[in-house]
Parts: sequence; C-alpha cells; structure tokens
Amino acid sequence: PHVARLIAAGEVVSRPLDVVRELVDNALDAGASRIEIEVEGGGLGLVRVRDNGSGIDLGSVELAAVRHATSKLAPEVSAVDHVTTLGFRGEALWAAAQAGQLHLVTRPAAQVGAAEVLAHGEEVHVSRATAPAGTTVTVRNLFHTMPARRRTQASPASEVREITALVGRYLLHHPGRHWRLSVDGDPRLTHAPADHRGAVASVYGPVSANRVLRVEAEGVRGVVSRPELTRSRRDRMHFSVNGRPVLAPPELEKAVISGYAELLPGSAAPLCVLDITVAPQDHNPNVHPAKQVVALADLSGVAARVQAAV
Ligand code: ADP
Ligand code: MG
Repeated sequence: PHVARLIAAGEVVSRPLDVVRELVDNALDAGASRIEIEVEGGGLGLVRVRDNGSGIDLGSVELAAVRHATSKLAPEVSAVDHVTTLGFRGEALWAAAQAGQLHLVTRPAAQVGAAEVLAHGEEVHVSRATAPAGTTVTVRNLFHTMPARRRTQASPASEVREITALVGRYLLHHPGRHWRLSVDGDPRLTHAPADHRGAVASVYGPVSANRVLRVEAEGVRGVVSRPELTRSRRDRMHFSVNGRPVLAPPELEKAVISGYAELLPGSAAPLCVLDITVAPQDHNPNVHPAKQVVALADLSGVAARVQAAV
C-alpha cells in the first residue's frame, strides 16, 4: 500500500511544475486577487504559493491534505460533468504531502485565528497559528525520500524556465490580479491588475504589448498581435478554457492562423492570448491529471468563432 500510494501521488505530482500549477489553481479557485509564487532550488528545495483568497475554516482544515477530500464538488456523481473550478479531484495537496513536506497556513478573513497544517506521508498535524487572511502553502524537499524520482528530474534551470512560462500563461489569462514569481529570491515576473494588453507587457515587454489588438466575440476574448509576414509566434499562442490555461488545441491554432490569412495572406502565426468560455457541461478537463488537455463538446464551433473573431 505504501508503494501504491507513492505511485498514485506521482501521477498528480511528478515534478515541481505540477506543484506550482496545482497550488496556483487552488489560489484562483479561492478567488484570490493577489498570488505570489516562490521557487528555490528548481522547485525541489521549495515551492511556495501565497494568496489572499477565501482561506480554509478551522472546521475543515484537517481535510485539506486528505486524499479525495474536496470542497469543490457537490456530492452527486454527475457533479464532475459540471466543473466550474480548476480543482475538483481533491488530490493535489495530498499528493504534494506524499512527495514532499507540506506546510499550509490559512485564515478566512472572518475568522480570528489561523490554522497550520504540517503533512508528510500519512502524518498530518493541525495546530492554531496567526496569519493574514488567505492561504500560504509551502512544499519542501520534493522527492527527498524518492531517489529514483529525484534522479529523473530536469535540471533546476530548465524546470525554472518551464515554471516561469507556466506562471506567465496564468498571468496572461488572469490579468486582473496581482502576480509575482520569484526564483531563489530574485523577482522573475511581477504584474499589477491590468487588461490583456497589460499582461502581454508584463510577460513579453512593451513592444509586443503595443502590437496587439483586442479580440472580443461571443465566448472568445483576448488579444492578437498585428499580422506579420516574417516571425512565427507559434510558441506565443495562448489559450484558456473557462480560466484554465490549456495546451493549444491544434484546431484553435489553425483557426487563428486562418483568420489571419484572410487579412494578410502568407502571414506568420501571431502572438495571441485568447480566453474561451463554454458552458461547464460542454467541456471535460478530466482527460489527464494535469488537466492541460480539455475536451470540448463543440470544438469546430469554437474554432469557427475564434476564426471569425480574429
Ligand atoms: P481540489 O482543489 O481538487 O479540491 P486540493 O487537494 O487541491 O483539491 O485541495 C483540497 C481542498 O483544500 C480544496 O478543495 C479546498 O477546499 C482547500 N484549499 C486548498 N488550497 C486552498 C487555497 N489556496 N485557498 C482556499 N482553500 C484551499
Ligand atoms: Mg486543487
């Protein structure tokens, strides 16, 4: 059972990047307007996410790191078909506590005292604490007791590159919040609430931000850069579905590029940030534990709307 537990946890948390994504998802689900991420040692030493969201009340904090305990799904079995939050499996904090040492401090704004949770493996300790409203989750020494897992990790530099890109994507799709990412104590990304153009400025700089145009149509919102013939920006095409940054579905990339070809035949793939909204029952984020692949009920319809909007 010990090995089975570690294997199951490893499917949710297989690298520091997974911890960052899961903790940021929780901060967004908690309605935070300020999200600060710290990474040390390529994330193997420490990942910390601090938010000013709803917090967890004393009555349920004990469950936070318990497997399958989620506050986000109604008890009906079918509720998983109507997911409106980024998390819903109740496995992230549990998995982080199997792979490393989890420390959580949390306080709902209306509650006087805070609670503190220390969890590692099957041990969970809850105590009283003092803290500002919101939640801070720290995961230390990831894979410390899993030498095989540790050996297969990417270099700290390459993990940091991917973490920076991931936080950049969250920021691009949630530009109305404060964001901060620091790596080994140095700030990498900082962003104050703005629109999509402001987010492009925070991630890619003012020159790129000045080149984007607003896109707004039914269920599609964001920005696209002006057509260019020379430089393909395929690596800068960003899509979210219901607030979740997703791996760009090829159909949607094609829709943007075709929309462009109508404007300027032969133009290259543009930088774009597009937020797609569909009804909860028309998408399924439950394809893979990382939830970066989303199945859309009406992909061609969405693609047509994207192309028309562009
Ligand atoms: P899930 O997000 O799938 O519900 P998690 O393991 O990520 O599962 O989190 C377990 C529970 O802990 C959540 O359902 C939520 O109630 C609570 N929680 C975790 N992180 C936060 C946070 N940053 N702010 C408020 N509540 C949180
Ligand atoms: Mg979660």
